[in-house]
Amino acid sequence: MKVINPATEEVISVLTSDTAATVASKVEALRAGQKAWQNLGVKQRLDIIEKFGELVLKNKADLAQVLTSETGKPITQSLNEINGSLGRIQHLKTNAEKWLAQEIITPDDATRELIAYEPLGVIANISAWNFPYNVGYNVFLYALVAGNAVLYKPSEYASLTGLKFKSLLQEAGVPENVFEVVIGTGAVGQLLLEADLDGYFFTGSYQTGVHIAKTVAHKLVPVQLELGGKDPLYVMDDVADIRQAAINAAEGAFYNNGQSCCAVERIYVQEGIYEDFVKHFTEEVKSYLLGDPIEDRTFIGPLTRPQQLAVISDQIADAVAKGAQLVLGGERLSRKGYYMSPAVLTGVNHSMELMKEESFGPVIGIQKVSSDEEATSLMQDMSYGLTAAVFSANEDRAKKVLDQMNVGTVYWNCCDRVSPNVPWSGRKNSGLGATLSYMGIRAFTQPKAYHWRG
Ligand code: NDP
Repeated sequence: MKVINPATEEVISVLTSDTAATVASKVEALRAGQKAWQNLGVKQRLDIIEKFGELVLKNKADLAQVLTSETGKPITQSLNEINGSLGRIQHLKTNAEKWLAQEIITPDDATRELIAYEPLGVIANISAWNFPYNVGYNVFLYALVAGNAVLYKPSEYASLTGLKFKSLLQEAGVPENVFEVVIGTGAVGQLLLEADLDGYFFTGSYQTGVHIAKTVAHKLVPVQLELGGKDPLYVMDDVADIRQAAINAAEGAFYNNGQSCCAVERIYVQEGIYEDFVKHFTEEVKSYLLGDPIEDRTFIGPLTRPQQLAVISDQIADAVAKGAQLVLGGERLSRKGYYMSPAVLTGVNHSMELMKEESFGPVIGIQKVSSDEEATSLMQDMSYGLTAAVFSANEDRAKKVLDQMNVGTVYWNCCDRVSPNVPWSGRKNSGLGATLSYMGIRAFTQPKAYHWRG
């Protein structure tokens, strides 16, 4: 399998894909290794994961280069991701023992009733390329701490990073038969669906998520899906600083080239401040440095996958044909690499794909609204349910809108943000189940009820 640098279109590595036979032998090895890992106890597993975090920190410059070379993520954003994701390890260190401990429900009764949280066994972690540290850790680190063995399938666009995870986990003390990596495209991922595994934890698109859930349904094992979004942001006319609101909104839309599951994908602005907001927003986007992702100052690099360029161009063409104005960007650069200048469209509405389908790239539509009611109704008009945000000086007003959203996460005066302290979950087409918080570690366990009469 060829690994291509999206900034240069050069082949930077050639990896050997897994086959049905190698997948089967990896599953067999993990099955053999899982029990001893479980018996090690939470404390020792946490010590090993903490060591892994130290190794990541020590090697972060090299790891960031690898991530940038295979995904095109600007180097400062690669470093941010690596540094930021270490918070998950601290979070586990602080809480995992408590959350995995046996709970005594009726200590004083003749029959004591207890709950034990046992690992699921050997689980599949099929992951996305856009934030491999964040979305990877959410699954494989929490699963390992809970006592599971993990078969990790990185996206074909983040395979070198996936292999780094394996070598650093092993160096930290995770046995070889407790964490394994499967290399290959979606067809290789398909082999995992046919393997004997005790849970499927997937991050990726709605289409693949549904396919996975359907394919493994007969196994009756846990399936968790972290899928896409079409996340709205509503800017009310009482914001304290319109320019600052525009700067924050632009970052939410264009960070990592818009390739975030919780990127701002649609903006609604109240009519009184609409013109001002669009002016500041456009100025901000114009100031973004587009170019080689290896340069420190670059904010927008190439897209990771070339096929997304056509998706975005089509959304722009559809919107313009239906009356939208392309005020900025949307052009392919005449250089090697999958570059597109960040695009801003105004005069958009919900007849346009741009406002309904996930873009997952450097494009945004800004729509004028006249009231909170109109904004609420437009924000709710989506098949996804990942996040929704409101910028306003008035908490009650913002909360009234956000309370009506059928989404897993709501933001007041912030956006495009994930924290290990609270669950990360999608509703509707954005997924099933939750990672992070105590829910995100319990997700990798199964309860056993004890009825104990001494
Ligand atoms: P895909 O669904 O295309 O791929 C995700 C993973 O599934 C990859 O590892 C892929 O392998 C693998 N895969 C593909 N086909 C199969 C199959 N038949 N059986 C098993 N595995 C398969 O997602 P994208 O790469 O397009 O990722 C972007 C999507 O992920 C966006 O929709 C984004 O919003 C979402 N996402 C959601 C997050 C969340 O937390 N909610 C976080 C991050 C992203 P390969 O890549 O090698 O083809």
